Amino acid sequence: MPQAVVVGGGIGGLGAALGLRRAGWRVTVLERGAAGTDLGAGISLWPNALRGLRELGLGARLRPLLTPQRTGALRDRRGRVLAEVGGDVLERALGLPMVAIHRGQLLDLLRAALPAESLRYDAEVTGITPSGELRGAGTDLAGADLVVGADGIDSGVRAALWPAHPGTAYCGVTAFRAVVDPVPGAVMDGTWGPGAEFGAVPLVDGRLYWFVSLTAPEGLRPADRLAFLRTRLRDWHPGVHRILERTPPEAVLQHDVRVLAAPLDSYVRGRVVLLGDAAHAMAPFLGQGGCQAIEDAVVLAAELAREPDVPTALARYDRVRRPRTQGLARASELAGRFGHRVTNPVAVALRNTVLRLLPAAVAARGTMAAARWTPPRIEPA
Ligand SMILES: Cc1cc2nc3c(=O)[nH]c(=O)nc-3n(C[C@H](O)[C@H](O)[C@H](O)COP(=O)(O)OP(=O)(O)OC[C@H]3O[C@@H](n4cnc5c(N)ncnc54)[C@H](O)[C@@H]3O)c2cc1C
Repeated sequence: MPQAVVVGGGIGGLGAALGLRRAGWRVTVLERGAAGTDLGAGISLWPNALRGLRELGLGARLRPLLTPQRTGALRDRRGRVLAEVGGDVLERALGLPMVAIHRGQLLDLLRAALPAESLRYDAEVTGITPSGELRGAGTDLAGADLVVGADGIDSGVRAALWPAHPGTAYCGVTAFRAVVDPVPGAVMDGTWGPGAEFGAVPLVDGRLYWFVSLTAPEGLRPADRLAFLRTRLRDWHPGVHRILERTPPEAVLQHDVRVLAAPLDSYVRGRVVLLGDAAHAMAPFLGQGGCQAIEDAVVLAAELAREPDVPTALARYDRVRRPRTQGLARASELAGRFGHRVTNPVAVALRNTVLRLLPAAVAARGTMAAARWTPPRIEPA
């Protein structure tokens, strides 16, 4: 049985492990964190990711989570509706709802589908040679047929094997996020003001996930994040403040958002392949980074299932995944630039007028295009 080592036990790495097992591989995931130490807030899973997770074998575990999103709205900062965000429109068009879930719950779902012996925690990989030999925790796995670099945006695998790549760059936005106790009546809702966005979406467990994307200089670190946001958004509509008021200050996380500074020329070096943020960390404005990691995992497994020659299968994976993920990275950047990041008052007014005039289905076209994807079957030859 061929053997794979996956570096990183995040969404992409666990998804790859599930897919490769279905494809008939023996898999070991090396995760540097300790068991049960997941950070993070909510994550939206669009129908493309849900279909991918089904193909990875999670259909039965997902079914109870597929609750429809109630229709909300995109508003301006005074609360006036710019566009209906029709949960039902999306679901009718795409056949599945968008599901928002706590990142820890998603990781638990993925881990529960893997045998315990495929997961090693406190297992930090400290180096990798051009031929794919690992240093650090995975040294005893030398000789694996495949190494999957699923070690996230600051990927050590990418740095070692793509030494000419410039790494990551700040995308101009700092993100604040929190998960709070259920807020009665809350629905999927977004608000755009000059240079900022507030979004809220109920999670499948009933809690509410909210985020603020703020155009800001890199390194802005308010001592009290919640107080800072309440001041920064003071002239925004009461719906925003009702949610901020219910948020404990210590629940607010903050990250400066970084992306790959340049697209990679290939996701493959020899028997080493990159997926997820290691390959294509993108701005979060379409909510697709994690969804794309799941797509990567499915395609990688499907190619390796039908093609026993690893280099040929990896070349196919690269051909399929690079255009899709790099195109979405560009689309996500543009969605931010022409969406909530606009600050000029004339441009804001123009954008708002256009949004009010567009039918909901047209306004949501970018989101829908990203979410429309059919996974290949993972069928061992
Ligand atoms: C503000 C924000 C909001 C977002 N919202 C969404 C959303 O709504 N929907 C969506 O789909 N995506 C969203 N994303 C993107 C999404 O979070 C990422 O694309 C996704 O987590 C990438 O998964 P990954 O497995 O590639 O990397 P990661 O989740 O970063 O996992 C990498 C793993 O590798 C481990 N690791 C790293 N180095 C080593 C090493 N040397 N040895 C062993 N282990 C190692 C890490 O500990 C980690 O567990 C958002 C991102 C941001 C910043």
